[in-house]
Amino acid sequence: MTCIDALWLPYTQMATAPAPLPVVGAQGVRIRLADGRELIDGISSWWTMCHGYRHPHIVAAVKAQLDTLPHVMFAGLVHEPALKLARRLVKLLPGTLERVFFSESGSVAVEVALKIAVQYWRNRGEDRHAFVAFKDGYHGDTLGALSVTDPGCGFHAAMSAYRVPQFFAALPRDAATRAALDDLLEKHRLDIAAVIVEPRVQGAGGMRFHDLATLRAIRAACDEHGVLLIHDEIMTGFGRTGQMFASPADAPPDILCLSKALTGGTLPLAATVASDHVFAAFCSARAEDALMHGPTFMANPLACAAANASLDLFETEPRLEQVAAIEAQMKRELAPCRALPGVSDVRVMGAIGVVQLEHPVAAALRPAFIERGVWVRPFGDIVYLTPPFVIEPADLSTLATAVCEVVAEWSKQVHRLPCPISTP
Ligand SMILES: *Cc1c(COP(=O)(O)O)cnc(C)c1O
Repeated sequence: MTCIDALWLPYTQMATAPAPLPVVGAQGVRIRLADGRELIDGISSWWTMCHGYRHPHIVAAVKAQLDTLPHVMFAGLVHEPALKLARRLVKLLPGTLERVFFSESGSVAVEVALKIAVQYWRNRGEDRHAFVAFKDGYHGDTLGALSVTDPGCGFHAAMSAYRVPQFFAALPRDAATRAALDDLLEKHRLDIAAVIVEPRVQGAGGMRFHDLATLRAIRAACDEHGVLLIHDEIMTGFGRTGQMFASPADAPPDILCLSKALTGGTLPLAATVASDHVFAAFCSARAEDALMHGPTFMANPLACAAANASLDLFETEPRLEQVAAIEAQMKRELAPCRALPGVSDVRVMGAIGVVQLEHPVAAALRPAFIERGVWVRPFGDIVYLTPPFVIEPADLSTLATAVCEVVAEWSKQVHRLPCPISTP
């Protein structure tokens, strides 16, 4: 199967891209190809597959749910898997985040968060439409989510005319950038509905890290100027950074988005979680104060069952300890890349390991990884690993060695490669 006649692939120039690899199965950390080869998954299927493929506990939970209630509409009807999951999420999340609105993809969870923020103000009699987002931030591919994604990330090209009003700021990492954010919020405070940020790690914008002080500065600025704060934890949620969630207890958001690893990578599901005071603005005697959003497959019971089973595994298996071990091993085993010409940084946080290149060449390196039996998908100017948390040290070594070898090879010919832009 190299002919994919009827398919349109993501982020792909269909006229020139190499044929995709046909996959016939997956187990644990391995993806099985139609030709019999196996690839160790170094990116957890876009950061979703935290317990590995086909974890028996999740498979059993989904099968049991399939026999009871695969789907039912979620307006006027409710079911135990969704209620149970919402209660568990509320308990795990920081702050007063207490109302869970389910959808089926991360971008939609962000759309819902943006709509909640705008309507929060409208319900209180204020007309605020703009958002503040950060350089290198990524929040999804739908028009609203794209509007708060940094155009520099390369997802916009054809869509620059479609934007909800937004301002882009530098992350407030130091006194100057804190002052700039303050100025922006002060100047436009009556237009700005919310600030949106990916806490600790900006993912698709290049796996860039920031510290807790930066998040606290954003929270403080939002409080001072009276605007809402949205944390997009679609990538960081469920242990990826080493904590269950990246949002700190002392600087929680007013609205938080989850998806990717929510179901342990098994089924599509997302959640937008609102704090008590945000939710309160939607409760009144006026019908028009209600949130007018309702995805058809909202809170799909199979997906909720998978998510509940995934949360069970975080309770019964030592996931965060595994993430800490992965972090230590990647720090050791990716370190040699630091010395290579053309490499400007090596950084690791939790189960995210990044080799930062000086040039955006990374997509050209993809075939070299497949040759080495690993599934690693560099993009832009980074080569990165986000392995499943259940990976064995030997398999992680195979991944790290592949990264070091491929980057070393590239480094040798660093001035001879073209510099195509690429996306995750
Ligand atoms: C992946 C991602 C999204 C978009 O999620 P989709 O399910 O692909 O729509 C939004 N925000 C962040 C931080 C993400 O990593």
